[in-house]
Amino acid sequence: MTRVETRWQSWLTGLPIGSPRPPRPVVKPLEMPLLRAWIMPLALIFGTPVIALLIAVSVLHQKGEVSTSLFQVVLLPRPSVWALGVIAGWLSFQAVLLRWLPGRESLGPVTPAGERPAYRLNGMAAWAISHVAVLAAWFAGTFSATSFYRQYGELLVTLNVLALLFCVFLSWKGRYWPTGADTVLTGLWAFDFFQGPELHPRLFGVQLKQLINCRMSMMGWSVTWLVMLLAQYEQTGAASPGMVASTVVLVAYLAKFFWWEDGYFGSIDIIHDRFGYYIAWGVLVWVPAVYCLPAFWMVEHPSTLSAPAAGLVALLGLVSIAVNYAADAQRQRVRATDGQTTIWGRPPELIRAPWVSGDGVSRSSLLLVSGWWGISRHFNYVPELALAFAWTVPSGFTHVLPWFYWVFLLILLTDRARRDEKKCAAKYGDAWVEYCRRVRWRILPWVY
Ligand code: NDP
Repeated sequence: MTRVETRWQSWLTGLPIGSPRPPRPVVKPLEMPLLRAWIMPLALIFGTPVIALLIAVSVLHQKGEVSTSLFQVVLLPRPSVWALGVIAGWLSFQAVLLRWLPGRESLGPVTPAGERPAYRLNGMAAWAISHVAVLAAWFAGTFSATSFYRQYGELLVTLNVLALLFCVFLSWKGRYWPTGADTVLTGLWAFDFFQGPELHPRLFGVQLKQLINCRMSMMGWSVTWLVMLLAQYEQTGAASPGMVASTVVLVAYLAKFFWWEDGYFGSIDIIHDRFGYYIAWGVLVWVPAVYCLPAFWMVEHPSTLSAPAAGLVALLGLVSIAVNYAADAQRQRVRATDGQTTIWGRPPELIRAPWVSGDGVSRSSLLLVSGWWGISRHFNYVPELALAFAWTVPSGFTHVLPWFYWVFLLILLTDRARRDEKKCAAKYGDAWVEYCRRVRWRILPWVY
């Protein structure tokens, strides 16, 4: 058995010197229709950057004028040294917080190959420090929210170039220096690049999905929204009640995300999706471009919501966050206690679903059939859509682009529920059929 021998090998695999080196993945050809193997991945790899950048830039710099910007790629800002500095600074800052802030270690769910990735749980502290740092810089006058807003297009274009290079690196690393045994290659290069080879890649000892998805992207989303509120304040001398309401909902949603970060390590992004273009480029470019559209829009189009209406919107958003959290937490709690808990004051109704991991070991998981998980099989997606509605509605109905994210989320979650159920059906077989028989609806009872 070969071992990790040098410091470089240790950095690349993310494993300590002397530990066994995971074998290079064997290429396992997959029988797939042409559409899934080539056409879809290539269309998305070439199409999504154009869509994300043009829509974001048209909202940021063209007042939403799609007609003058959508087909004029030449109008896109150019990558800049300023943007490179901001990205490098943010990444380093988040890496330092992740690595050195105190926090207990948490083990993620067992992977198909029987491994358990470890994470450091210090997300809440990192969230607090990141927001305080930005606010302190703004109050001290060393940071201009308006110039950040004006240069945001450059930032996105630069991020796009870096994210594509990063995806190439991930493909190379997975092929030659994988971190673990959960590495898959099909030999169909467009598909492999799109899906990515590794499930839990590490670099310099850091879990890349935790650093990039959570700390760089989700944290960046929250801070960017806050900066847009500050930019509106700088430009108009006030923040509109609608902008304040949407910022409260968004920032609370992401605070909840970090409060529940170990729950995210059991979500589909982490346990099912590999780290390639779909996830890595998605969180590095699609999130900062598309997820922030309502905030970009509101900087120069202040919300016309009255203070009481904005209060109601904030209330809708906060209640939806609480329901979404409660649904995710129920599932997590039932599994963590092996069913020795109560759901809405009663013992949980459960199905014990057996499955066999890739290393041949027989295992079992609990499927919760009561509480939120008894209403529908993905009820957590209903409040997810409601809370996104709450932070979008202050941007009004005069333009369609601020709603792009909400429509995208509706399509994403509908497709995600279908993909997830396909995975669960293959993993659990009869137990999943039994769950679907007892809980009939997929997302919204009597509708879907
Ligand atoms: P879920 O939290 O819905 O988890 C799905 C997994 O849970 C399944 O793969 C299965 O995993 C397990 N599971 C399924 N049914 C049951 C059950 N009855 N009891 C116990 N476990 C079950 O997945 P997501 O990753 O989609 O969502 C996580 C959170 O992220 C949600 O709050 C969602 O709203 C949010 N989200 C936000 C998005 C955004 O862009 N804003 C996008 C997607 C999600 P196993 O193999 O372990 O059994």
